[in-house]
Amino acid sequence: PKKVYLEDLNKTFITAGKDKVVAVNDINLKIEPGEFATMLGPSGCGKTTTLRMIAGFEMPTKGNVFIGEENVANKTPDKRDTAMVFQNYALFPHMNVFDNIAYGLKILKRPKTEIKERVERILKMMKMEDFSERVPAQMSGGQQQRVSLARALVMEPGVLLFDEPLSNLDAKLRIHMRDEIRKIQQNVGITSIYVTHDQEEAMAMSDKVIIMNNGVIEQQGTPQEIYQRPINEFVANFIGRANILDGQIESFDGSDVIVNIYDVKYRAKANRRFETGQKVHVVIRPEGVIVGKQDFTVKVEKSVFMGQNHEYGVDFFGTNIEISENNPTGKTIYRIGEQMGIGFEERALHIL
Ligand code: ADP
Ligand code: MG
Repeated sequence: PKKVYLEDLNKTFITAGKDKVVAVNDINLKIEPGEFATMLGPSGCGKTTTLRMIAGFEMPTKGNVFIGEENVANKTPDKRDTAMVFQNYALFPHMNVFDNIAYGLKILKRPKTEIKERVERILKMMKMEDFSERVPAQMSGGQQQRVSLARALVMEPGVLLFDEPLSNLDAKLRIHMRDEIRKIQQNVGITSIYVTHDQEEAMAMSDKVIIMNNGVIEQQGTPQEIYQRPINEFVANFIGRANILDGQIESFDGSDVIVNIYDVKYRAKANRRFETGQKVHVVIRPEGVIVGKQDFTVKVEKSVFMGQNHEYGVDFFGTNIEISENNPTGKTIYRIGEQMGIGFEERALHIL
């Protein structure tokens, strides 16, 4: 597997009306060999453009793309040691599965026996031996996407690229396929760069999540880091659900703060410096709110039993906060209109 390094990468499109669109705005990014890295962000934030610059389908306006030790910024896609899996599968409709997978190796003029051996090995790994004679129209979307993945893997590229490969599949199959892709990626140990707008998919698959917005990287880190320590409100709201509360710093001792939230004081971890008296925003996830604690009395506005958890919406000083009480069986259920006592779990508080 190869590492990937993007250096000051920029792509500005000039539209037909001569408008400039900065799709990717000076991105710097390092992806380690064998890592599964996911670019996650809303539609239009520049994910596909970044991926296409790594693949060589799009030339950067500025900046460099290193694959391994080599700067490939000016190389054509076939000289980059990458392979891409597309949302629409992009299979040849008139070719059967075997020939679709074999296509790239034939272009490289590999010996027939080697092609047969490699294609059969991949078909076996993907448990698709019985499909080799079928053409794409004779297969479901999920099966076609597995062929598309097999076609990329058979090339044994240094880096595998995915652009929303599961978006055309139904919800259940999407979950099955993401587990399968992750398992294969770990078995093969291949560096993978994956693009999605689905935060759950990103969390479930990735070693590293890269949150993008408006052509820039907002934050990168492990799924846990991004979820537990979002750097700003955009990231907090994009990954999972976030309640964002107003608070004020009472004191800061170098590692912890005491933060005042509507006259209740909490101790929280500080990952930067704070000044006494400073106004801050505090992120608390729905599962970090403790039902039954008496720090605050709030009015229930939503009360939904979901099995694994009970979801509440309550009015908290004029804003709504979401609460997810885990394992609710046997606990008091509060109905809409009732009063409920709540508090916040200190280790779940994150100060922005
Ligand atoms: P994403 O994949 O995150 O949805 P894209 O990378 O496709 O985003 O697009 C980023 C921005 O660049 C968008 O504003 C999009 O409209 C614009 N864009 C993408 N491709 C072109 C193009 N060929 N010409 C002009 N604008 C483009
Ligand atoms: Mg896209």
